[in-house]
Amino acid sequence: MVRIEDYASIVGESEVEGIKQLAELVKGEKVAHVNATPYGGGVAEMLNRIIPLARSLDIDANWQTLKGDAEFFTITKKMHNALQGNQGVAIGEAEWKHYFDTVRFNSSVLNLEGDVVVIHDPQPLPLIDYRRGGKWAWRCHIDTSSPNASVWDPLMELIRRYNIAIFSLERYIPKSLDTQVLIDYPTIDPLATKNAKIGISEIEKVLNRYGVDPARPIIGQVGRFDPWKDPLGAMEVYRMVKGRIGTAQLVLIGSFAKDDPEGKEWYDKAMAFAAKEKDIFVLTNLDGVGDFEVNAFQRAFSVALQMSKREGFGLTVTEALWKGVPVIGTRAGGIPLQVIDGTTGYLIGNYQEGAEKAVLLLKRPWLARELGQNGMRHVRLNFLITKGIMNYLRMHIELVGKRN
Ligand code: UDP
Repeated sequence: MVRIEDYASIVGESEVEGIKQLAELVKGEKVAHVNATPYGGGVAEMLNRIIPLARSLDIDANWQTLKGDAEFFTITKKMHNALQGNQGVAIGEAEWKHYFDTVRFNSSVLNLEGDVVVIHDPQPLPLIDYRRGGKWAWRCHIDTSSPNASVWDPLMELIRRYNIAIFSLERYIPKSLDTQVLIDYPTIDPLATKNAKIGISEIEKVLNRYGVDPARPIIGQVGRFDPWKDPLGAMEVYRMVKGRIGTAQLVLIGSFAKDDPEGKEWYDKAMAFAAKEKDIFVLTNLDGVGDFEVNAFQRAFSVALQMSKREGFGLTVTEALWKGVPVIGTRAGGIPLQVIDGTTGYLIGNYQEGAEKAVLLLKRPWLARELGQNGMRHVRLNFLITKGIMNYLRMHIELVGKRN
């Protein structure tokens, strides 16, 4: 079982002590989290770790997920795309009705009792209609800096009814939102199977199992198969690198999330591209690539790519940096907060630049090492779960007040 004390060797005694003191003030309080999927994607990743940690601090935290049919998740994915800026998306009347009906059904099966109820992302947003008490927080994990108004405006009516709305970056906060807001950076757990240290021989075993050569350079991208993550862009970059460094390999790892109906289509596109090029490995959770394997591959990357066109925050970037791997990424979403250009990796504007920076790092391993070390420090100071739990505790105290 996880214990807050286990983090002291990573973040220091005083940070752990501070968390324990805050937790004392919230002890015994009930907190309910609701999101759309139990696995796949960053939200599930974080809840999976933060709930047990909160419970270990004697907070009565639970995590529940929505139930919905394929149509519901197709609608909510359209919504997600619209909020991330796809102006072409329109949600019809029947679709809105199905969305609200599905959430209403969920309101009768979920336990929405809590001193604080945290609703994640747009899928369960209308649950606020069924609030029976407590303070309600809406936690938005996506990039809402230039949303499609036809979808965003009706959702804003719901958001306004929450006690607080939490965003990953300041520029995601809608100007017209008059409720209380909070910025909270997403975080990773250094003790999770996904991020914990593993030995070189274990790493090599994983690579060998999938036919990846540990002795040759590996460029990698981890991310759902989704147009926003631009997996094909990662392949374009690789193709250019391969022209200059013939030994390079590309590992593309993507999963199929329960709430993401677009996964298969983009996986097929990636497979079709890979069939035309040498040394590209497209791997998924269905090939047995789980947390441990993702960890092993990320540690084996010479350089990690994050070619996202839109990105809420980009936990995959955090994970790579934490493993001492420099990241070449776009300027989307939370990537520039993590990739400090020339310090923890490189920010790029197009595939050509991505390839140039990748070649630079593959040819200068000492430079890659230095950027990777800086990245690790940056994550330790800003994006570990201890910061995440501290923010939740502070928010709780702010909303509910201190326990006597
Ligand atoms: N992930 C994974 N396997 C995959 C693809 C992604 O385990 O094949 C994990 C990844 O390690 C990260 C999360 O899913 O922890 C993705 O979070 P991120 O913020 O990068 O993107 P999101 O999917 O939430 O848009």
